[in-house]
Amino acid sequence: GHSLLTLPCSVVLWRRSLSCCMLPFILNGSQLYTYSVCNVGEHEQDNWLRTTFIQRRPSASRVFVELQFIVRDCNSFDGSSLTCKETFNLFSSESDADIGTSFRKGQFKKVATIAPDEITSRNELRINRETRVVESLSRKGFYLAFQDIGACMALLSVRVYYKTCPATIKSLAAFPETVAGGGVNQALREVAGACVENAVSEESPRIYCTMDGEWVVPVGQCQCKPGYEAVNDTCRDCQPGFFKAFVSNDACELCPVNTKLLSSGALFCPCAEDFYRAPDDPTTGPCSGLPSAPRELVATTTQLAAGKLQLSWSPPEDTGGRSDISYSVECRRCEGTACQPCGEKVRLEPASSGLVDTRVAVSELEPHLNYTFTVEAHSGVSLFASQGTPRSNRPPSTSTLTTALHYTGRSLYLGVIVVVVVVVVVVELLYYDDNLDVTTYTVLILEKSSVQISDLSPGTAYLFRVQALSPEGSPGGSSIEDEFETLTEVPPLCLSCICIVLSIMSIYSYSSPEQLKPLKTYVDPHTYEDPNMAILKFASEIHPSHVTKQKVIGAGEFGEVYRGILKAPGRKEGAVAIKTLKPGYSEKQRQDFLSEASIMGQFSHQNIIRLEGVVTKFKHAMIVTEYMENGALDKYLKDRDGEMPSFQLVGMMHGIAAGMKYLSDMSYVHRDLAARNILVNNNLECKVSDFGLSRVLEDDPEGTYTTSGGKIPIRWTAPEAIAYRKFTSASDVWSFGIVMWEVMAFGERPYWDMSNCEVMKAINEAFRLPAPMDCPSAVYQLMLQCWLQDRSKRPRFPDIVSLLDKLLRSPESLKAIADFDPRVSIRLPSTSGSDGLPFRSVSEWLESIKMSQYSENFTCAGVVTMDQVLQMKNVDIKNIGVRLPGHLKRIAYSILGLKDQTSTLSVFAV
Ligand code: AMP
Repeated sequence: GHSLLTLPCSVVLWRRSLSCCMLPFILNGSQLYTYSVCNVGEHEQDNWLRTTFIQRRPSASRVFVELQFIVRDCNSFDGSSLTCKETFNLFSSESDADIGTSFRKGQFKKVATIAPDEITSRNELRINRETRVVESLSRKGFYLAFQDIGACMALLSVRVYYKTCPATIKSLAAFPETVAGGGVNQALREVAGACVENAVSEESPRIYCTMDGEWVVPVGQCQCKPGYEAVNDTCRDCQPGFFKAFVSNDACELCPVNTKLLSSGALFCPCAEDFYRAPDDPTTGPCSGLPSAPRELVATTTQLAAGKLQLSWSPPEDTGGRSDISYSVECRRCEGTACQPCGEKVRLEPASSGLVDTRVAVSELEPHLNYTFTVEAHSGVSLFASQGTPRSNRPPSTSTLTTALHYTGRSLYLGVIVVVVVVVVVVELLYYDDNLDVTTYTVLILEKSSVQISDLSPGTAYLFRVQALSPEGSPGGSSIEDEFETLTEVPPLCLSCICIVLSIMSIYSYSSPEQLKPLKTYVDPHTYEDPNMAILKFASEIHPSHVTKQKVIGAGEFGEVYRGILKAPGRKEGAVAIKTLKPGYSEKQRQDFLSEASIMGQFSHQNIIRLEGVVTKFKHAMIVTEYMENGALDKYLKDRDGEMPSFQLVGMMHGIAAGMKYLSDMSYVHRDLAARNILVNNNLECKVSDFGLSRVLEDDPEGTYTTSGGKIPIRWTAPEAIAYRKFTSASDVWSFGIVMWEVMAFGERPYWDMSNCEVMKAINEAFRLPAPMDCPSAVYQLMLQCWLQDRSKRPRFPDIVSLLDKLLRSPESLKAIADFDPRVSIRLPSTSGSDGLPFRSVSEWLESIKMSQYSENFTCAGVVTMDQVLQMKNVDIKNIGVRLPGHLKRIAYSILGLKDQTSTLSVFAV
């Protein structure tokens, strides 16, 4: 994305020695015209060359000037080296109009002194190429000028350009070509995009254009509309035979079985003829046919004399592809040729319809009559049976059996049946229902104390009444009644007489967990007059005999930290961390110690260290928390330097951010967020810890006294918190940025060996930590956002969580790596002004880059001097046994940095 502005021929020429202003010379066989000057014998040279007016595109406030030039070695002029120079100066001047040839030096500002990397000696021509930036341009155009102060040089070419982020399509959003950000206050330019045709997004898509012309951090994804799928940055119609029902990034799906294949762009696939979807079937699922008739219907008459028989049958051969088969039984009785429904006269148990089992008990049959039983198979799609044109070859779904009962005599029925009636009152609440007032009653007669009711309509209010009946069917005893509403998705409801209220309550609580979430805020234990009350309220007391200490794992401010086992009644036995209070403490110290528990006890989140309980009622007070096998995060990462992929590191940051979001939601400000205060468990889950009230003041070895009083971990703390103790969630966000940096740099110390004073000064002057090696560009951009001076502009924790979430969901976004400067990022000790190498030995150098473990590899390979090190290529480093890519890179970069020592260190450019 470089755009070229033309540089026309010069107007004002070198002031003196005009005779030689455009000299041709031959290089590699071609003739080059140059502006040259060579007044090396003369004193006080001040020669200028100015360009014509260069118009500026309004948004290009930062332009690059690339120069090609030759400078002659002063030593090659006998006797004139005293006044001879080997540098020249680049100037610029802004203007709203072309001022022609009127030239005043005073209007020009110096951009840079240009020194050659390679000097041309008598017999060898060396062309230098240098690029400088002219920033904060605001007027219509500008001039560039070159000042010679006594060098022998030639200017071969000047290329002036600005950078753009090219027009692009990212995540189905189109973004226009954009001029790259313009300097310190506008490092990132926010650009709004538009979804491509047939794509939509909830949040309007945005992206940032960096100063280097790179697109980073796309926000707000576009997704293809129903009927379209993403193919190469466009949304294409679903192909014939495929469909897509929702807005999503998914591909179109193949039409399910028994559906009609539509032409392209289908939102769903309608059912093929004679196949249906039940009202509850998803439109994206398959269609099913009507079931065929039940088979092998037989009547068994074991107790014929008692007017009873048992009907049984086998399931239909063809279920139509469904599993929700039920049966209904119709009974007709015939005297001679006159038939009529049996009605109430015959009893069918458990019921006459909705049967799941393939049998029914028939009783109260009368003698001397013919009975006809018709069993019909039903499924979720049976309601469509009468619709459409019946298909001649469709099998009937009923089986009929006629049985004659011929017996005389009466039976006497003795015995008690306890019958429970569930009266279901259905009130349709669905807004699309025309019959809003219709109330349907469904009565189920049961002989058991529970029933599963499926087939409930979604989003409907139901009233249940459970009524006990006498054997004769008359209501008796008391009844229970309860009302509830089904969700939009209905699970089958299991009712039982005892648990009816409970199940209804659980349905309520499923319906909208979001609304039920209480808005909790953190309570400062200081607000309790008696701190012991706070402990009592927020922490549960553990008996010391239930706690076993096993091994010291760390030292806290108040005493040792142990790993141990908690084995309390009613709890699962498990590993815990036990913080102890050393003997001889004062009451104030005891309360400070326990305050951590009364803070921690208020939190409950996956990414916050969990309090198991406290021991306060005995001499040795203890705080018991969950045990984090991998210990503190900074140490954990140092031990795995370069060995973990970015994806995993970003996952860890996401966990920490989620914990911090929770704390900020509870209005708790941590004040000492740092990798050393994050603990890591076996699953590599990161949890925020260290909550003591006095901790920032006393506990943290990083704490430093400030002029405003109190101890503050300077290099983790936001400027406003250092300056005037303004600790907020926004200052926690700053610290989170430092933690991100610690994570990406594998536990490196922020700002290395700079003193606290140097750190504060650098931050004040708008310098920021540079990107760690291999750090994804998007992650580094987020760090820079966390370190904005204006705290209201920093992202908030919910923004951070969702951004990290997005990065994790599209690992592609982690591929672009931020620029990495080995000279800055791997700190080399200062060269103390000497030209030589800063290291006296290979081992000293390896130690400085924390790679001492390879000392022996270098020695064994015969690499014993730094000169030999400088000759090494990447393959050589690999060959001597450095295998881990992270280590390989670190060593290679350091060598590169050593070679590059000649240029000045531009530390911490923002
Ligand atoms: P602290 O006083 O909280 O800074 O703890 C001191 C050290 O003890 C930490 O740096 C950890 O190494 C270790 N530690 C503290 N709590 C735990 C825990 N829950 N699980 C494992 N190690 C812990």
